[in-house]
Amino acid sequence: MTTLDKESLGKQIISAIESVVGPPPAALHEPSFHGNEWHYLKECLDSTYVSSVGNFVNQFEHHLIEITGAKYAVAMVNGTAALHIALLLANVRPNYEVLIPALTFVATANAVSYCGAIPHFVDSESESFGINAAKLRSYLKENTIIDCGQCVNKRSQRVIKALVPMHVFGHPCNLNELLEISKDFKIALIEDAAESLGSQFNGQHTGTFGVMSAFSFNGNKTVTTGGGGALLTNNYKLARLAKHLSTTAKLPHQWEYKHDSVAFNYRMPNLNAALGCAQLENLQELLNFKRKLAITYEKAFSKIEGCTFKTEKNGCKSNYWLQTILLNSASYRLRNEVLKETNEYGFTTRPVWNLLSSLKHFKNMPKMDLSGAMELEKRIINIPSSPKLIKIKDA
Ligand SMILES: *Cc1c(COP(=O)(O)O)cnc(C)c1O
Repeated sequence: MTTLDKESLGKQIISAIESVVGPPPAALHEPSFHGNEWHYLKECLDSTYVSSVGNFVNQFEHHLIEITGAKYAVAMVNGTAALHIALLLANVRPNYEVLIPALTFVATANAVSYCGAIPHFVDSESESFGINAAKLRSYLKENTIIDCGQCVNKRSQRVIKALVPMHVFGHPCNLNELLEISKDFKIALIEDAAESLGSQFNGQHTGTFGVMSAFSFNGNKTVTTGGGGALLTNNYKLARLAKHLSTTAKLPHQWEYKHDSVAFNYRMPNLNAALGCAQLENLQELLNFKRKLAITYEKAFSKIEGCTFKTEKNGCKSNYWLQTILLNSASYRLRNEVLKETNEYGFTTRPVWNLLSSLKHFKNMPKMDLSGAMELEKRIINIPSSPKLIKIKDA
């Protein structure tokens, strides 16, 4: 008799989670405010500079530069806005195509669509959950030509302008290989690093490999500003333009309202940045808690036959944003049952996003064979991941 016959997989998973985080309830991911949050928010209110001009915004950008090693950071209202600006600055124009994984949050595809461009869905690998680079390379070899220095999709005749890998749940994707592809096929690499603050690839922070990258500080991310995002780049000109485009393209002048293009009101308010400054001061502590949670989960799940806990790859450091278990092929069919049992018990668990290529408004977009992503869609379950879960138990 195997363990699967003895007790439902859902019950075994519940026991494993409970052995790590204690009795229910446990949310999927809750923010922690135990630093200078109240203090900085009060300081911000007292200053009256609550909107898009203020010291906290500059300080927040400075923090981000220190943490990531990027040369420039431009804070914005959210991660989607940062991606939108990054794509515009990479010259993504109407009817161009942008390669993105089918297995990502919908914001990646939305930002492409805001530019009038077309998301072109590519496959993912189980090792990193990110784009399958080897498969992408052979796909591009077969389906594109380089014409006047631009990559052209032979089937649609459209220019493929950018490649946007995403570091799923904080696990860095295969950046070395994707950078090579970006060079060989003349496609700009823009990282959707929304989920990967604190994650490293070969000792270098994610979001510093591409021409530009976007981070998110939404309430459910590792560090939050309520809502917020940032565009990071090492290119001075792009950083200047990103700030310009996100602040209505206003030309500096003592009193005149002159703007040199249609632009956006995407700047992060000072109030949100105040929260962010306090959060970033505690980033290392949050990452330590999440790593400890992952190590403890890994041990607890090693006793269960039907699934494995996802750990970071060699050479990579994950921030373990959302902790993940993978169902084995024998237990794929139990996914919904497991989700139902765990959620009813009070442990919030979630499947991965539905593949974007399956949404009705993206159904007719170009795509390659997505068998890797389809398999991951059946296997992934996120389990309670808040940093405080491990702290409470150890306290
Ligand atoms: C959270 C997230 C975003 C967008 O961030 P917002 O700040 O919510 O706009 C983009 N891409 C991915 C992969 C995300 O997880």
